[in-house]
Amino acid sequence: MTNSIFEKNKEDLKKFILDKGEKPYRADQIWRSMYVDLYDNFNDISTIPCKLKKSLKNELEFSPLKLVVKKKSKDKSTDKYLWRLHDNKLIETVLMRYDEDGHRRKRRTVCISSQVGCALDCKFCATGQQGFSRQLTIGEIVSQVVKVKKELLKEDPKIIKDQNNLNIVFMGMGEPLANYSRVIESIKILNDQKGLNIGARNITVSTVGLLPRIQELAEEKIQVNLAVSIHAPDNKTRSETVPINKKYPLEDLIETCKDYISKTNRKIFFEYVLLSGQNDSEEHANKLGKLLRPLLCHLNLIPVNPTFKSNFERSGSENIDKFRKIISNFGVPSTIRMEKGIDINAGCGQLKSEFIHLED
Ligand code: SAH
Repeated sequence: MTNSIFEKNKEDLKKFILDKGEKPYRADQIWRSMYVDLYDNFNDISTIPCKLKKSLKNELEFSPLKLVVKKKSKDKSTDKYLWRLHDNKLIETVLMRYDEDGHRRKRRTVCISSQVGCALDCKFCATGQQGFSRQLTIGEIVSQVVKVKKELLKEDPKIIKDQNNLNIVFMGMGEPLANYSRVIESIKILNDQKGLNIGARNITVSTVGLLPRIQELAEEKIQVNLAVSIHAPDNKTRSETVPINKKYPLEDLIETCKDYISKTNRKIFFEYVLLSGQNDSEEHANKLGKLLRPLLCHLNLIPVNPTFKSNFERSGSENIDKFRKIISNFGVPSTIRMEKGIDINAGCGQLKSEFIHLED
């Protein structure tokens, strides 16, 4: 764990403050400074006495994230942040700005990481190609949101004022459900009404399909959205690019998703990265349509972002449209995920691949 104040949940912070002989409301004041005022150092916290400030500074670090680079896409819609952690490891966060587009309002989405690297080795994914290093701590997860929200507040306070315009997706580096307890604890902090106040419905956890953890998530009281990276409609095709499919095959994944939907009454978002010649034929589309037809779900079709180490190519746009048409004939709602930040390597783990030599 890091020595950052962001590692503490509300109860931890309260206890820490009480142990110093201070009144509990001091913890509330500090919490507010961190998550509402979004101060980025202890000095700015003007509500607490100097002595307490000094003692906090002596014992704790403030943010566990140090900025290494920030890149902006040419169309200015996407920013990508690369952060250095206390042990020199690097992680990424992506900010995406969406304009109003007919049926959806102007909004901002922050894509955050949950692990340094990833153990699951999906063949088209830049993070998978880096291997697994370690879990992110609660502070490292939550601070990604704090840092980006602070920039958003400076840039366009009006839009962020309405909480519904800010979405958080666990779609950066790592498999969030493989870091389950810290991800859940982080969501509770993001959720806190006296803090960041980000509604659970504005938070999406994306998983490659760790079935026991999906079952556990179905029992949690927090109503986050679940996205499942399906990427293929049959075991043979899926196992070729998503190795965990050998442990948790597609039929079990679909069963677990059905249980999740009936327990939570919430729809699942399926993600399908289109890989030319691999999973994008009419036959694949028909099989996928049949598979998803009985489920309350939405399908996101994602043209692959080519990575340094893999040879997968994007499907042609005609092919993508045909694929989508077949899916819609089965009554499965779908969207083609808007391409964002391709010129700044905004795909999962891609910016870090460019800077990995800075890690050790
Ligand atoms: N481990 C989680 C979160 C990973 S990233 C999961 O697998 O869902 C979120 C999404 O980005 C996943 O659907 C992942 O498969 C997808 N993704 C990874 N690499 C990609 C690439 N090169 N191009 C497009 N999407 C990619």
